[in-house]
Amino acid sequence: MRTLKVTCKMCRREGVSLCGREKCALKRRPYAPGVHGPTGGKRRFRVTEYGNQLREKQKAKRLYAVNERQFSNYFKKALRMKGNSGENLVRLLELRLDNAVFRAGFAKSRPAARQAVSHAHISVNGKKVNIASYQVKPGDLIAIRETKRTKGVWKSLEEDIKTRQAPSWLATNAATMETKVTSVPDGEELKQPFDPKLIIEFYSR
Ligand code: ZN
Repeated sequence: MRTLKVTCKMCRREGVSLCGREKCALKRRPYAPGVHGPTGGKRRFRVTEYGNQLREKQKAKRLYAVNERQFSNYFKKALRMKGNSGENLVRLLELRLDNAVFRAGFAKSRPAARQAVSHAHISVNGKKVNIASYQVKPGDLIAIRETKRTKGVWKSLEEDIKTRQAPSWLATNAATMETKVTSVPDGEELKQPFDPKLIIEFYSR
């Protein structure tokens, strides 16, 4: 699958670090690319409702690194689900296997988590799963596969996990390199650096 290359230009445009790099350019230049300095942000164009909706959609798409087709499928699925469509959309994105691996503290960024999944380092309920978009559900046990645990990338995992905070819908065991999905993301955990309501509006036009 073609993976979307996230550049710091995107981070700066969206105003949120999407790349997962420690030295994200957004930290040094927290304003949009092409704008000359933080005071140069006088908007040359009036931002329309459509523009805002589009921006939020692009932000979410880039944050989770999913393409347009996949993303509009998440929207359709979110509409069919019971409850608030915006919240459903965030839940579907959060419950992607690559995101769960990142949230569990197994990887320092979503791109790193995606790589761990696609390189077949991850199992769900004891079975190898190398599909980043795989939807996890309550009761699933996500783990670093035993044959991969000695690989360099996982050497400091136990220590790394301690510095990362997992959400309450995941119960991570650093020593066994496993995390259990205990529930679906809810409440505060649905608050992301984008507004799902505007995304729903975008697709509902
Ligand atoms: Zn960046």
